[in-house]
Amino acid sequence: MINYFDTDREDSGNFKQYKNLIEAINDIVFQVDVKGNWSFLNNSWKKEMGYEVSEVLGKPFFSYLHPDDVETNFKFFQPLIEQKKEYCSHETRYITKSGKVLWFKVFAILLKDETGNVEGVTGTFQNISSEKHNRDFIKLLSENINDLVCLHEIDGSYKYVSPSITAITGYSAEDLIGKNPVSFFHPGDVKMMSENHHKLMDHGSNNEYYINYRFRIKNGTYKWFETSTKMILDEDGKTTGFIASSRGIDNRKKTEELILKSLQKERELNQLKSNFVSLTSHEFRTPLACIRSSVELTEIYASKSGNVLPYVLKHTQNILSEIDRLSSLIDKVLTVSKIESQGLTCRKEPIDLVALLDENVNNIEKIQKDKRAVTIEIEGTPRLVMADPLLLSHAVTNLISNAFKYSIGRHQPIIYLTFNKSSFTIMVKDFGIGVPGKDQKKIFTAFHRAENTHNIEGTGLGLFITKKFIELHKGTITFNSVEQKGSEFTIKINSSPKASNLTSNVNILGHSLVNF
Ligand code: ADP
Repeated sequence: MINYFDTDREDSGNFKQYKNLIEAINDIVFQVDVKGNWSFLNNSWKKEMGYEVSEVLGKPFFSYLHPDDVETNFKFFQPLIEQKKEYCSHETRYITKSGKVLWFKVFAILLKDETGNVEGVTGTFQNISSEKHNRDFIKLLSENINDLVCLHEIDGSYKYVSPSITAITGYSAEDLIGKNPVSFFHPGDVKMMSENHHKLMDHGSNNEYYINYRFRIKNGTYKWFETSTKMILDEDGKTTGFIASSRGIDNRKKTEELILKSLQKERELNQLKSNFVSLTSHEFRTPLACIRSSVELTEIYASKSGNVLPYVLKHTQNILSEIDRLSSLIDKVLTVSKIESQGLTCRKEPIDLVALLDENVNNIEKIQKDKRAVTIEIEGTPRLVMADPLLLSHAVTNLISNAFKYSIGRHQPIIYLTFNKSSFTIMVKDFGIGVPGKDQKKIFTAFHRAENTHNIEGTGLGLFITKKFIELHKGTITFNSVEQKGSEFTIKINSSPKASNLTSNVNILGHSLVNF
């Protein structure tokens, strides 16, 4: 058999040049005889396959093939040798000396001598392993992603549609390619989609747009989709189209609708509850006022008959204190209902904080059966601050009352009032029962009372209201508490010194100015 690349041949003058050329080619150039044994391989064989050329010449090509590809290769080889075909081209796998599998694109033609006798087959192997890997990867991705990935021309028409289209819409990719999506949009979304398209074209580049819309699927119904779109630019930065990635969001839309409906229902119920609460609370006030005045009259009449007076007084005092308790509960419930219906506003005005605190402290001290008092310690220079006096008094009163109520028999509470540059803080500290760890997260929730308060009266509404009042000031309320050691509740409200500088008018009422 003639080796066409043999440089020792007599007619090899020109072939020497060709041989050099062939050795310089990156692809493997091969020749096999009619039996399929290698008769020539260029240097690329060694580079790709790891075997020396001399090691394999004379050996059958199929022994280097991937076992699964042997049969197919014979189906290509046999018709060539039998002259049923002039050439063949296919993709196949070879196994390198180190055991690695390589994909080659094979191009082979029949080799005949001058008299027309078949001598074998010659051709090239092009290593397409990485290209094949990428192709397989893209195929795997496009066949398995649940999202829909589409490439669009600048005018919006489909250039590529991933196979997931069938599972999502019932269409095949071919049904859509070349068509404009506008004809599939819900009539109610066409305008918005076209505006979005223009926006994308005008401001395109790297921005990514998300949009929700309805798309007509093959069975004629509409399905909700969310699509993110990104422009595709060429090397000169010119827009060549856009890529869109979409997913069906029917379930999400249904859930959103349900949530919106139940929110609306909840709002209506809340409104109803607020109205009911405020109506019934108002209705309670009148009979309570009547009972109070009757009790007072009873006391007056009883005072005229000396011997029954002590018994009557004992009961009337009980009735009066229960009336006060009920009235205060009604006040609180009404306040909560006002807060919930957002019917409260914070009317800030310059206030003398030291005086406000002092007045509230005095009122609370007066009703302490154990005669305990509060120490107020002031840091910074007292000044007028901007706050709503009613809301702030209410908040502070609740914290101070709690400090007394939850520390019976312990050290007296202390109030630390601090004037900072652009804010003030009021910290109410007590040495009482504290808040157990597991209740700490919930104590600002309406009606929540900690487990250690069973024997102490309360409604669980005070801190809820206090927090709302402080938030209306855009302030914060925080606390630290250790069970059986005590609690510190701190209100912080921003108020710049610009509010007023009437320091001289502030009556510090003899409280000590300390650093702490
Ligand atoms: P209450 O009317 O029950 O005092 P609040 O809303 O004022 O309602 O307080 C809520 C809960 O927080 C209280 O029931 C109590 O468990 C806890 N708490 C509030 N302040 C203190 C405090 N100074 N010491 C201990 N526990 C407190």
